[in-house]
Amino acid sequence: MARRRSSTVSTPTPRLAADALLRDGTANSRVGRFGWMRLRGVRARNLDGLDLDLPRGCWVAITGPTGAGKTTLARDVLHAEGRRRYIETFPAASRRAMERLERPDADTLEGIPTARFLSATDAISSGRRTSLARVVELRHALATLFSLEGVVVCPDCRVGIRPRSATDLAHLLDQLPEGTRYAIGFPVEVGPNVNRRVALDTLRAEGYTRVVPWDRAKTQFNDRVRTFEDEDLLKQTCREWWVIVDRLIRGNENPARRLDSLSTALARGGGLCRIVSDALPNGAIDARNDWRCPSCARMFLEPTPPLFFETNPLGACPVCRGVGRLDDQGRPDPHGSAVCGTCQGLRLRSESLAVRLEDANLLEWEALTVEQMTERLMRPVTNVAASSGESPRTTSARRRALAILTTLDQLGLGHLPLDRPCRDLARGEATRAILAGAIASGLSGLLWVLDEPSTGLHPCDIRRLSEALGRTRDQGQSLVVVDHDPDLIRAADWVIELGPGSGSEGGRVVFQGTPDQLAQADTPTGRLIANPSATPWAVASQPPTLSNSPPDSARFSRARKSSRPRFERPPDRPWLRLTGARGRNLRGIDISIPLGGLTLVTGVSGAGKRTLVLDVLAWAVAEAIRIQKGPSADANPRPRAHESVGFEAIEGCEHLEGLEVIASGPPIRSPRSCPAGVLGIAGELRRVFAATPLAKQRGYPAAFFGIGSTGGRCSTCKGLGVVTLDLAFLPDVSATCPDCGGKRFRPEILDVTYQNRSIADILDLTIREGFALFKNKPKIQARLRAPLELGLDHLRLGQPLTSLSDGEARRLRLAGFLATSPAAVERSSRGPKSLFLVEEPIWGLHRSEWSRVLDRLRSLPALGHTLVATSSRPELEGWADWVIELGPGAGDRGGRVIFQGPPRVSSTPSRHNADHTPSLPQS
Ligand SMILES: [Zn+2]
Ligand SMILES: [Zn+2]
Ligand SMILES: [Zn+2]
Repeated sequence: MARRRSSTVSTPTPRLAADALLRDGTANSRVGRFGWMRLRGVRARNLDGLDLDLPRGCWVAITGPTGAGKTTLARDVLHAEGRRRYIETFPAASRRAMERLERPDADTLEGIPTARFLSATDAISSGRRTSLARVVELRHALATLFSLEGVVVCPDCRVGIRPRSATDLAHLLDQLPEGTRYAIGFPVEVGPNVNRRVALDTLRAEGYTRVVPWDRAKTQFNDRVRTFEDEDLLKQTCREWWVIVDRLIRGNENPARRLDSLSTALARGGGLCRIVSDALPNGAIDARNDWRCPSCARMFLEPTPPLFFETNPLGACPVCRGVGRLDDQGRPDPHGSAVCGTCQGLRLRSESLAVRLEDANLLEWEALTVEQMTERLMRPVTNVAASSGESPRTTSARRRALAILTTLDQLGLGHLPLDRPCRDLARGEATRAILAGAIASGLSGLLWVLDEPSTGLHPCDIRRLSEALGRTRDQGQSLVVVDHDPDLIRAADWVIELGPGSGSEGGRVVFQGTPDQLAQADTPTGRLIANPSATPWAVASQPPTLSNSPPDSARFSRARKSSRPRFERPPDRPWLRLTGARGRNLRGIDISIPLGGLTLVTGVSGAGKRTLVLDVLAWAVAEAIRIQKGPSADANPRPRAHESVGFEAIEGCEHLEGLEVIASGPPIRSPRSCPAGVLGIAGELRRVFAATPLAKQRGYPAAFFGIGSTGGRCSTCKGLGVVTLDLAFLPDVSATCPDCGGKRFRPEILDVTYQNRSIADILDLTIREGFALFKNKPKIQARLRAPLELGLDHLRLGQPLTSLSDGEARRLRLAGFLATSPAAVERSSRGPKSLFLVEEPIWGLHRSEWSRVLDRLRSLPALGHTLVATSSRPELEGWADWVIELGPGAGDRGGRVIFQGPPRVSSTPSRHNADHTPSLPQS
């Protein structure tokens, strides 16, 4: 074992840290070279007077147990200050709003660059209108390409529309052979409703002298040229006259006069000029200088970049204004019940989609995967009109698009279609997409704060993530990465570990220095870095194995060799069998899940885990249960995630009575949601306060102690404690409510106390403090037990859910379920049970905390429930009874079952998992 320091390194000054680096001979030349961010006396949540220095232009990893203050430091201090400085650079109008924007509470904050905050939640919750292409700002590059090189094609006539100026036409005429006779003119309509004599007089007054009765069938026109005196013109022989402006001979013409004639013809002809010559194909060409279809006369729009954004009035569908849906009255409404009939929900106006590049419109381009689009853009854009290759602007737009696509591909997102909505991306995919956008932005000198970017990533994907982070840092960015992954910590330039515990036990710096120094430090992360293959979860809870016969006996016999203790599963226990599962990259796969067991669905990011479990399986089981319970059971069937999602058959649902999906859920509905609500104690707290003597005396009902209804809550901030500042061009920024000072209630409501605490004080308690305070209220206390077991001690009862990290939010949902339906969880071991589908249960957890959560989840199968968890962490395999691995790759290269059977901990593991499965202790 490596030498360990006898004591932890506590808050060394940068100078000391740098000295230590030089002494160790492992000096990272980056650290300190670009200066330091100096934080002194930082006070926020559990950070109490923290002093800290972070090297600029470096990759700084922040780690530590849940609730130690990592996100507070990264988001509420570093990012908040960086954003404040960014807004400060804007003109006076927005600075007025700035004055209300609080500075993080600290003695001094120096050297913090302007900041961007990156969290997958932001991308996913930004709603249905954000697609992958938009997150990485690929649309901008495509819009430029389309505006420069796109061809407008009338969708009805399939005719290309290319406006030609007089100069363009002059160049065209130069191509005619020397000595060719040609004439420039314009058409005039002379249908039955036109008074031909008046028309002739008008033309004569304008100085024209010759006209040709136009008949498309005849190409020889010279013998039919008429002077205005010709009485034949007044007879109804044709519907159109062609008025001659000028007659010229190629080679003898005066260029200025010719240009003038062309311009006159275009102007007088309403944008249409007709050039006639025997040397031309069909004897004549019609050329327009506007965007009208020559065949059906429909007017199109000049392709300019704004035309390709539904967010711009120019590009938006005029009926739904670019939102794609309409409400009952036919008004634009993103949540409306009807798809807009004008744009079919595509949100762009039809003129935008008439622009085609290589015979595909913008949306068809965006439906390509990253790989397919890269391939198409690798070839220079073929523009028929341009004789001399690609213009520099085209080349630059193409290069820019390729740079974004290459970054996406390097981050393992090559399989994704660019129009995939962000809400449908797996968490890891979304994080890496945002990172790709950050890299592609080309900005430098910024501070990027990343919240748990490795969540949901398979170890192979983490290597690529790490490389991308390294490149971003090399571009001159400062990176602050909150993450637990040992590989990401080792690759950083500088590590800050907060701890030692969570909540009031945390908020201190237990280590700062280089990763090499961390490996020598006796801290939880230091031990993990020094010995990464250590068992990730407590050995005490022996992962049981199934003993009855699985569907694939060959694989089972291989696993039988495992010497681990077996969980004696009653032999009559049935299986849940799903056949023909399809959707996205799944093309009809069959899986079996042991009922009453713990199944792990694993595989690389993009292999199809989420689609299989959260889309197909969840939908199939929900439908089956709904049918079993009869039509009255549930009026709102669980919606199918996607049109293509489906299956052939599902068996075994008769043994299930409920389905619980614990996944990165829909965006939090109300900014008023808080842990107290999720855990089902908010109503109980309101009743406790309403029952106090003072509340009774003043006649306050229970509702006055909640922020969901009016009466007790502060009317300025409507119970939020903060007011939102609208800065128009920036994401909304919130500031403490000036009336209640963040207390959220009217002052008279706060007079009412329980155990000397007002409702505001109670909502400010952590779950652990609440658990102690309510020892006389068993109903409340019981509901605070599950979050404690899941490591959520530090959450405050009234903290908005929007402030939670992804991992915290997911575990809180699980805790909420365990707390509010204990009866369902702990029903006797016989009878129907629930199926729990849990997405990535250990996201956002420090490795030292895995066992706590995994043990708690293990208790569900112990009670007879069935648990199916997805995870890209192969280390979890030994925790499960049954493993389904999807792969072998991502996207089209994935979606197949490459392994199904009991854990392969000691038998032949698959290629991907082989490198990363730590050896488990055998007992
Ligand atoms: Zn047309
Ligand atoms: Zn529309
Ligand atoms: Zn207020």
